[in-house]
Amino acid sequence: MALQFDCIVLGGGAAGLMCAATAGYRGRRVAVLDHANKVGKKILMSGGGRCNFTNLSIEPSNYLSGNAHFCKSALSRYRASDFIELVERHGVAYHEKGQGQLFCDNKASDILNVLLTECEWAGVEIRTECQIERVSKSEHGFSLSTSQGTMHCQSLVIATGGLSIPTMGATGFGFNLAEQFGLPLKPRWASLVPFTITDKWQSVFAELAGVAVDVAVSCNKQHFNDPLLFTHRGLSGPAILQISNYWRPGDAITLDFFPSGDIAELMQQWRAEGNKSELKNLLALHLPKRFVQAWLEQSLGSRPVQQYNDAEIKQLAEALHRWSITPSGTEGYRTAEVTMGGVDTDAVSSKTFEAKDVPGLFFIGEVLDVTGWLGGFNFQWAWASGFCAGQYV
Ligand SMILES: Cc1cc2nc3c(=O)[nH]c(=O)nc-3n(C[C@H](O)[C@H](O)[C@H](O)COP(=O)(O)OP(=O)(O)OC[C@H]3O[C@@H](n4cnc5c(N)ncnc54)[C@H](O)[C@@H]3O)c2cc1C
Repeated sequence: MALQFDCIVLGGGAAGLMCAATAGYRGRRVAVLDHANKVGKKILMSGGGRCNFTNLSIEPSNYLSGNAHFCKSALSRYRASDFIELVERHGVAYHEKGQGQLFCDNKASDILNVLLTECEWAGVEIRTECQIERVSKSEHGFSLSTSQGTMHCQSLVIATGGLSIPTMGATGFGFNLAEQFGLPLKPRWASLVPFTITDKWQSVFAELAGVAVDVAVSCNKQHFNDPLLFTHRGLSGPAILQISNYWRPGDAITLDFFPSGDIAELMQQWRAEGNKSELKNLLALHLPKRFVQAWLEQSLGSRPVQQYNDAEIKQLAEALHRWSITPSGTEGYRTAEVTMGGVDTDAVSSKTFEAKDVPGLFFIGEVLDVTGWLGGFNFQWAWASGFCAGQYV
């Protein structure tokens, strides 16, 4: 006999579990179906295992979407303070890192346990290793053929996330289902992702692999001040992941490797003081030694600082403060934290998250065309959209 639920949530990730618990507390009979062997895998691997679960300064401007207004309603109805209150109620210890980012003191599993406990208290049924074979709409709701039998529900929530890290269970299921029901999709690509470099700089960067530098990076009128990390294949680190949200193939990025100072001014000062040291030793007081070495090898070389003339100082300053490079691509979904694009928000209500033309069908979390910055913004979107939809499913 077919199983009957008021609401079925497809995908037991951040958004799906939040939505399920919220709906369960309203007295709805809710099931979460996930094809993976356990739910919340991305929560477990997030924030380097400590889950950067929200940010103290969430603004709509921290999100990219075809419709910049879409995220506003949910973000104002479920705030970072609401999730912090939930986390504190469950006794989870956390701390703030730079720029308002909140991380667990212990493990990311603390956050998953909060959600699983909430789901349990709310009477939610969680079914893992459940393959969804077919979804159809009937007069009374939706009918699902699954590896665990046929199931019916009034409300169907799609919370299957994006395409990043397929080895963790990511699939394009939500996008395919949106298409099946006639919802438009925005183009999708890997974002919050390292860049690959294939020009002459690749070998230089490979030598520097593992070196981190605080930079200011800019592209398409956006800029971020964060650490950059050189890798064997290109550039990574928070600065690069942040700017990747704004980068399109063919665009150059501009880097300032010394945003906290002025190299030309410093060099003039060293000269005026009669400093006899070599430039590489002086620069190494402010920048990582290996970086300075490699950098000077690629430009004017290292000599006693007194030997550089004004034109050379200008040239060095220009190269360090306004260095431009065109990435050849990104590392793709294999390592990306998120998928840019997704279900077109114009087809979904920003209040209820129900598809405007398909009553009973809801989309939440990363499957939607809403992408946050690095720093807890994507989880806050998952909590907020899940919570808001949970009021209506
Ligand atoms: C390495 C990494 C680190 C990250 N760190 C952070 C961080 O610290 N802070 C932050 O804010 N964001 C972080 N993110 C982003 C964040 O994890 C996502 O934005 C968030 O998990 C999206 O939530 P979601 O519920 O929409 O999707 P997900 O959490 O991806 O959940 C989707 C669920 O759907 C299931 N599913 C997929 N396809 C099917 C199918 N066909 N049938 C059934 N079930 C299916 C999956 O198994 C999964 O359980 C990180 C992402 C990655 C990859």
